[in-house]
Amino acid sequence: MRLAHEFGVQLITDNEINTLRELTGEVHYLIRRNFFYAHRDLQSILNRQRNGLKWALYNGRGPSADLHIGHLVPWMLSKWFVDKFNVDYFFELTDDEKFLVKEGYALEQTNKYAYENALDLIALGFTPDRLHIIIDSEDIKYLYKIAIKIGKKLTLSTVKHTFGFTDSTNVGAAFFPTLEIAVAFLPTELYGENVPVLIPTAIDQDPYFRLARDVADELGYPKPSTIYSKFIPGLTGEDKMSASNPDSAIYVTDSERDVRRKIMNALTGGQPTAELQRKYGGDPDNCVVYKYHLLFQDSDERVKKIYEDCKVGKLLCGECKMMLFERIREFMKEHNERRERAKDVINQYRISVKF
Ligand code: SF4
Repeated sequence: MRLAHEFGVQLITDNEINTLRELTGEVHYLIRRNFFYAHRDLQSILNRQRNGLKWALYNGRGPSADLHIGHLVPWMLSKWFVDKFNVDYFFELTDDEKFLVKEGYALEQTNKYAYENALDLIALGFTPDRLHIIIDSEDIKYLYKIAIKIGKKLTLSTVKHTFGFTDSTNVGAAFFPTLEIAVAFLPTELYGENVPVLIPTAIDQDPYFRLARDVADELGYPKPSTIYSKFIPGLTGEDKMSASNPDSAIYVTDSERDVRRKIMNALTGGQPTAELQRKYGGDPDNCVVYKYHLLFQDSDERVKKIYEDCKVGKLLCGECKMMLFERIREFMKEHNERRERAKDVINQYRISVKF
């Protein structure tokens, strides 16, 4: 809530939820459970849908080796939008930015990670007719003309102020925001008609898309809409999963043993002893394990039961963690099987084979 206020975005209300329900017959649990909780102009995309007008989805990732399962969550929502609305999904892998801002990374390395991360995206079940993957260092021809138009509209002082750049920021990194903004306008160029995008992403990406909305009118493009998620807390209690503490996150490459250990060591809202837990119950509202149940259990009934049983002391934390471990193990097993299969078809998803 604090961040939504800070960024000046709107909270999702019954209004948007009711429209989604009216259009699709259901609302994805990540929205219903308030994980995606804020937006800019979501209603205008929903109005387009209602009127049979084109729109597209867009988000992306700065490729790296440490992809954790939390990174998959916004893409799970994208999958729902693609399935429900049959829209095109543009996904940008910013191997250029990672190279520019991360000390010690070679471009060849970030480019390799782009391919690795693309496999994780494809593994969520997208089909090549809808998912279009852009790898910045290879697909720049799709973005460059749009990016330089954006670049001419943005002053150095605006990007410095927006992203906290300083005099020691390299000029590559200072130019990069134009490329992230460019994809928001790409569908309009590709289709030769106004095709606004909806961007499901974490709220800290808002500065890019606020700038995109600022320059859109002047450049003759439709303003992008956004839908924002909260951060996923670290298992060990941090505000978000962090690469600097590997035990705070479950990586897609973790062994079953590591996943189990991390979950069993996670911070809970439980009582110090089983006896006290039975007597007073736990505090699921302040429990990381419960938050992960909310993200990975699609059954509302199961989640409700966990909540209620915890509150009245019928569920002990060890058992609750085992239930989470079973769910994540199943999720990762399926994910890794699909990821293997994606290796044979990855090229079919590249934007360059379709546009
Ligand atoms: Fe958290 Fe589950 Fe323990 Fe309740 S029983 S505090 S939800 S781990």
